[in-house]
Order: sequence, then structure tokens, then C-alpha cells
Amino acid sequence: MSIYHDQPIYLDNSATTRPSPEVVAVMRHLFEENYGNPSSLHAMGFQAEREVKNARQAVARALSVLPAEIIFTSGGTEAINQALFGAARIGRKRGRRIITSPAEHPAVLESCRRLADEGYEIVYLPVDPYGVISLRDLEAAIDDSTILINLMMVNNELGTIGPISQVGRIKQKAVSQRADDLLFHSDAVQAFGKIPLEPKAWSIDLLSLSGHKIHGPKGSGALFIKRGVALPPLIYGGGQEAGRRSGTENSPAIAGLGIASDDLQEKIYKRLRHFSRLRQYLMENIKNEIADVRINSPEQVWSESDIESRPGLPVASPAILNVSFAGCRGEVLLRSLEQSKIYVSTGSACSSRQTGSHVLKAIGLPREFRQATLRFSFSEDNCLAEMERVVEALKASVAAQRKLTKR
Ligand code: PLP
Repeated sequence: MSIYHDQPIYLDNSATTRPSPEVVAVMRHLFEENYGNPSSLHAMGFQAEREVKNARQAVARALSVLPAEIIFTSGGTEAINQALFGAARIGRKRGRRIITSPAEHPAVLESCRRLADEGYEIVYLPVDPYGVISLRDLEAAIDDSTILINLMMVNNELGTIGPISQVGRIKQKAVSQRADDLLFHSDAVQAFGKIPLEPKAWSIDLLSLSGHKIHGPKGSGALFIKRGVALPPLIYGGGQEAGRRSGTENSPAIAGLGIASDDLQEKIYKRLRHFSRLRQYLMENIKNEIADVRINSPEQVWSESDIESRPGLPVASPAILNVSFAGCRGEVLLRSLEQSKIYVSTGSACSSRQTGSHVLKAIGLPREFRQATLRFSFSEDNCLAEMERVVEALKASVAAQRKLTKR
């Protein structure tokens, strides 16, 4: 076996990514030297405060929003919780209806379940075979009691890009026809750094993101809160983050997120082209070399001409490819690929240990395909030569499993 064949191939970048050396370096600096409390009034405090300020500017730049519109959180999950519970509290005197979809991340679905217990009415719009809601259903679901629309930007299992700019237009139209506000939150955890984002142009009020999906640290995240939206905190205490998220700032994680966000938008097209090449190669070769496969993600990926994603034509983030291999079990394939040091997932990291994928159920994928699924997710660390090795290993793993089950 050559040395090359001993190198691990990590294709689970939607679960988490390898922190970049620049991120590790800045975090190490903050742990070992610049460890002051950003609220302290001495020089070490000011230095730490400066790191937090730089990070806020970097995240704001990546989203084309104001630094004052960004708060740091302990990750995507906390940002989503604050957006949902905060929006529900803002709106509770006006109405109780929250519109979302069954294909959202558990951070959304579990928050909604809790809000339903508290008396909110959660409307789950049905989704098509790619996990996309119908805009007509959305328009029909908005009534005077609607206080929040919550729809994700990129589905973490399928990679499908939601029609976010059109949702924003529908929300704006509804707002113009009523006296009070209606908020729009989007979970952009799988979109940040993967497709260009324009929250302001898309009438988004609240947007959640996470550091560890973009080569930043785990336990780092941010919430965009549009100026003028008085979102209440989830965590109370010393009044950090302008009173919107108390607790001593996790300055190493925040600085790491800042470094990971730096230049994210500037380099996005280069990264997109790289992911697209890898995904196209892998998808075409899986389809050509392995019988009875089903591509669950939209085959078409987002391209530069799709800034306004085309209604009726589902497109995927080039960072994710979801495939079912008929007659196989996803977990068995995963274990078999692991023997060749190839790391993939059967779905999202959150659903993989539970009862199977709620997303694949929501899109109506038959059970035998749901159990036979692998998700491949890419980063700039991956290369085409790796994809060749993945196709070869997959061919062997699928054939071995089908032979056992005499398919
Ligand atoms: N939303 C989506 C779409 C995700 O994929 C994830 C992570 O897998 C999250 C939210 C949660 O983010 P975090 O792991 O930072 O809490």
C-alpha cells in the first residue's frame, strides 16, 4: 500500500471542519498570552477587547452588516435558540403563529416543540423531494397572528438551498400590509462561507451561524440581529455583548471565529468552484460506476448566475452531496469506508445517533433508501485525487454488501 493510501480522507465537513492553522495560532495566543478579560479596565483587558472587536468586524464584513448587529454565542444552536425564543417573546402580545418546515435542524425543531408547549402555534409547511417549501404555501400560511418565519438557508443533510430571497420578499409584502412587524430568521450555519449571503437584501432580521463549519473552533457562533430589533437575551448576567448575551466573552473562540470569517466572502467564488469540481466528479463517477444509486441532493449546484436562486429549479450548495445506495445500510458502508480511512456520515451528526433522518422522512424518501444513505461534505482541504480513491472504495464496499444480501 502506498503512503498516499494511508492518508485519511475527511469528507464529513458539514459535521465539523479541521480548525485552520491561523485559527489555532490566534487561539493559542489568546490562551497563553492575551488571556485578559475583555471587560477588565487594564491593558490586558483592552487587548482582549480589541481581539473581540476585530472578530466582530470580520463576521460583520462577511455578512455585509454592521458590527453592532453581531453578537457572539456558544455556537449555532445557542444563536438559533435566542432567535426563536426571543422572537416569540417579542411577538407574544401580537400573535402566536410561527411558520417553519419539518426539514430544519433539531436546534429549530426542538425549540419549536418547546414553544408549542408554551402555547405558540407552529405551522410546518410541507417540503418537496429536495426539502424546499412552496412559496404559495408560505403566502397562504401568513396571517395577522404570524410573528416569525423561520426557514434555513442550506439544508444540512441534502445541501438544498432554500428560496430565501423570495421568502424575504413575501415577508416584506406581508409587513407592508399590516401595522406590526413580522420577523424572519434564517439558520445559515451550512450557508456561511459556502454561498454568498446578503441578509439585508433578503429582508432577514435574524441569522444564525457557527464557527466550526468554516474551519473555526467548536463552541463559537454568532447571531445577526438587524438594527432596531429589540431581541431579548437568552442568558442574563453581567451585560456583555451590549446586554444581549451575558457571560465573560470566550475570547479565544471569538477570535478564532473572526479569523475563520476573515476574507470568507472575498474568496467565496474560488472555494465554490473547487467544491463544485469535487462534487461533480464524485457524483458522476458514483452514477457511472455503481448501479442502483439515488442522488438525493439537487444535482445542479449553485453558481455565480444564481444570486437570486431560480424558483422551481432546486440547486444545492456545492459543499454537500447526499446519495442512497440501494440494498445497502448506510452505517455498514460508513464502517467499511472507515477501514480505508475515508470518513463520511450517514446524515447529519445530530440525527446519526438517533432514530434516523427526519429530513429524509420529511421529503418522503422510502425507508429502504433512507437507511442506505451517505452524506459527503467537502472543504478546501479535499482534492480530486481523493475523490478517485473514494469512488474505488465505495465500489468495493457496495459490491461486498450487496453480495452478502444477494442483491
Ligand atoms: N444548524 C445547522 C443547519 C447545522 O448543520 C448545525 C450543526 O450541525 C447547527 C445548526 C448547530 O450548530 P452548532 O453545532 O454550532 O451548535
